[in-house]
Amino acid sequence: MRNVLVTGGAGYIGSHACKALKAAGFTPVTLDSLVTGWQDAVKFGPFEQGDLLDRALLDTVFEKYEPVAVMHFAALSLVGECMRDPGLYWRNNVAGSLNLIEAAVAAGCLDFVFSSTCATYGDQDNVVLDENTAQHPINAYGASKRAIEDMLRDFEAAHGLRHVIFRYFNVAGADPDGEVGEFHQPETHLVPLMLDAIDGKRDALTIFGTDYDTPDGTCIRDYVHVCDLVDAHILGLKWLQDNKGSRVFNLGTGAGFSVREVLDQSHAVTNRSVPYIEGPRRAGDCTKLVSGSQRAMDELGWNPHRSTMKQMITDAWRWHQTGHYER
Ligand code: UDP
Repeated sequence: MRNVLVTGGAGYIGSHACKALKAAGFTPVTLDSLVTGWQDAVKFGPFEQGDLLDRALLDTVFEKYEPVAVMHFAALSLVGECMRDPGLYWRNNVAGSLNLIEAAVAAGCLDFVFSSTCATYGDQDNVVLDENTAQHPINAYGASKRAIEDMLRDFEAAHGLRHVIFRYFNVAGADPDGEVGEFHQPETHLVPLMLDAIDGKRDALTIFGTDYDTPDGTCIRDYVHVCDLVDAHILGLKWLQDNKGSRVFNLGTGAGFSVREVLDQSHAVTNRSVPYIEGPRRAGDCTKLVSGSQRAMDELGWNPHRSTMKQMITDAWRWHQTGHYER
């Protein structure tokens, strides 16, 4: 029995990670509060409902399942929300992670894979962001994730907690088998909102800002297919189990797409145009986030072969038309 504790396993990325873990011969044990996750998405292993702020529950879960490692996805991750309510982010993300890390150390579970973000880099115009770029987050979400990265380093020094930190760029797409997919309530992410607008499930998409210093005036992001992203996590887990030491990896492809380019691509895939209006900037958004992604490819052997915009939108569109979860 090789259990891996997956916090946030009922969420978008966590549920895809559970599927990949199962395929790799592990048993994913989902711990999720269901505040943003969906129980329907827990399909690949046991489920425990609870909050990371509940330390007694964490101790019980570690005792019950004796996981060989933790994959820590559970977090609040919305830029707009964190600007309005930073306390929510510091409590939920930072205090929750502290509880989890302390419980893992107490249980002797010392391999830890952590979902961090390119939002820890902040707004650094015209820079390709690699793992050595200084981190200057401009919102509470990025700041909360950077704090957890620091926490992991301190716990390694004191308690030998080995960790792989993945700094995600923008994640899109869905499981091509349609077992799990992206479903947020409320939805704030570009690709699902765009698909909703295309088939009339909601009003026109608002492009947040057309006056950025980019070729077409809209923000540029580096999009990764969720299945490629979780592949990297399996490689990261093996990296830890092979005793290769703690390491930070960016997960992006190095290709940047503006909001308008994403809209154009979705027209090409769906053959339908996206109704949109142009609106003001969204507070907290960076102009351009593009990954220097060579390290994960060179050292982990990561191959993000599904991460073309066409493939991501094709898989997201298929899920969009067929998949959903109920609470
Ligand atoms: N975006 C937009 N309209 C929307 C949602 C997002 O123009 O309704 C833009 C947003 O400003 C950013 C990009 O799309 O430049 C990706 O945003 P998303 O919320 O998907 O991810 P984030 O970059 O915040 O992690």
